[in-house]
Amino acid sequence: MFRIRKISNHYLPVNIKAIEQVKNLIDKQFGDIRKEKIDLITDQMIDPLKYRFHAMLFVADSYTETIKGFALLLHMPDLHFYYLDYMAVAPGKTSSGVGGALYQRVREEAQSVHAKGIFLECLPDDPLLSRNPEILAQNKQRLAFYEKYGARPIINTKYEMPVVPGDNDPPYLVFDNLGYKEELSSDYVKQVMEAILRRKYGDYCPESYIKEVRESIVDNPVLVRPYKYTKKKTDNINIPTAEKPALYLVVNSKHDIHHIKERGYVEAPVRIESILKEILPTGIFKLHEAENYPDHFITAVHDPKYVSYFKTVVEKIAEGKSVYPYVFPIRNNAKPPVELSVRAGYYCIDTFTPLNKNAYLAARSGVNCTLSAADAILQGTRAAYVLTRPPGHHAEANVFGGFCYFNNNAIAANYLSKYGKVAILDIDYHHGNGQQQIFYKRSDVLTVSIHGHPSFAYPYFSGFNNEKGEGEGLGFNVNHALPETITPEKYQKTLLLALESIKKFKPDYLIVALGLDTSKGDPTGTWPLRIADFLNNGKLISSLKLPTLFVQEGGYKTQVLGKNAKAFFTGFYDAIMASENLK
Ligand SMILES: [Zn+2]
Repeated sequence: MFRIRKISNHYLPVNIKAIEQVKNLIDKQFGDIRKEKIDLITDQMIDPLKYRFHAMLFVADSYTETIKGFALLLHMPDLHFYYLDYMAVAPGKTSSGVGGALYQRVREEAQSVHAKGIFLECLPDDPLLSRNPEILAQNKQRLAFYEKYGARPIINTKYEMPVVPGDNDPPYLVFDNLGYKEELSSDYVKQVMEAILRRKYGDYCPESYIKEVRESIVDNPVLVRPYKYTKKKTDNINIPTAEKPALYLVVNSKHDIHHIKERGYVEAPVRIESILKEILPTGIFKLHEAENYPDHFITAVHDPKYVSYFKTVVEKIAEGKSVYPYVFPIRNNAKPPVELSVRAGYYCIDTFTPLNKNAYLAARSGVNCTLSAADAILQGTRAAYVLTRPPGHHAEANVFGGFCYFNNNAIAANYLSKYGKVAILDIDYHHGNGQQQIFYKRSDVLTVSIHGHPSFAYPYFSGFNNEKGEGEGLGFNVNHALPETITPEKYQKTLLLALESIKKFKPDYLIVALGLDTSKGDPTGTWPLRIADFLNNGKLISSLKLPTLFVQEGGYKTQVLGKNAKAFFTGFYDAIMASENLK
């Protein structure tokens, strides 16, 4: 199993390790490339101005962080194209699908900004230009691979003229139009070839060579070679169906097995349906299936004893029966009650969050959804939304409560924190005590929460403004506890303050604990936000311009819940589209 992730910073140990492995792979597979060029990769990733292109690295790795392949992609925004600098798969992995998955990912990156296309070099499959039969066979294989995507060599130019006359294997310039079927004008190709030769090979290609290549371009439009390896024309592989990129959406398919049918239990399955029916028709989202993830992602955040208790106790509870905590052994927490049903209170903060078989299964499935979306973020997705219940933000390392069992946003934050700094913004009406407690002593995850003051709002015991973190985590927890009655303007002011503290922290990833119980009329809240306010909140959050993972928390007024969610995501999406100029 492997995943593909976009490396967004070069300073974390995990990424330093990945970049080192990539350099080794290049060294092994492209032996003739000078060592200094390989060492430049990190520099190119951080200094686009110096090189006049923006380098981005995609790696296929396993969860043990062994690199199975990589693609180094250069973006030349002034000419609106991408150049695939290197793509390689680790020895022995050539038939594993890694190459195809990497190239697919690279194409998606280019399609997401509607680039003109991807250019890349391939050694020739012409025996006159490639005289070693073994290399010739490899070259044919490579050209056939790209041809499946419609990518073929540009013909009738001198691009493949060797810089040193008589040299073997001068590369073709291959063009992938990404399925857009736009023609290549001779003027444009002149600029592209010149940009590649100057920016990429400036120290190797003399001026006279660049000029000769440029002047050799006479066809208008410039032509690519007819299909050679594929019988049928397949240049419609992965033609982008939507002009606009969609946000990643995953819905917990097991949420509705968790249904506490008691009067007043507002955390009900209808919440998900009411959101889905409003957001799906917007076209903002593309729905994905969740993968399965092992328990260690959960126990990295929650006390393994609590996790194993939850798992074991529900096996002993009869189908359809619930256990409510009723004894809270706070006087002696060294002695968890032996009787399992009594022990519920040892791990719980209130009397209204029951344990039963389906609560565990639904919450566990929600964790899979959340980690799937976190992986999408690691792969470079701009934003992902986990539509799940039960919620998670009241679950602490070793306790459940407030309808919450596993703290989805904290599990995702802890996972993402291995790849960059993470900020969690909790905009649920109730304090996000779970992630506050979990990350209270850490400085690599900033927790910010805007909520009703604990003097009148659940969970009553935490969420005070003077809770600022402890030890190394001091200064990395921010609470904005607001009065029972506020105006939308006061809310907006507070949100702007929260966003300011996140900007100062300079995170690589943002997680939004998305509670919509700030809505007017919510049975668990007291605030007045309406559709227009949610639209505005989404817009304001987009201004952070961060890869963002939205995790569903509260929101119980089902008549407006879906409309509020739709407004929130419309505000967010329209603002990122406008700022990235994609509309
Ligand atoms: Zn809430």
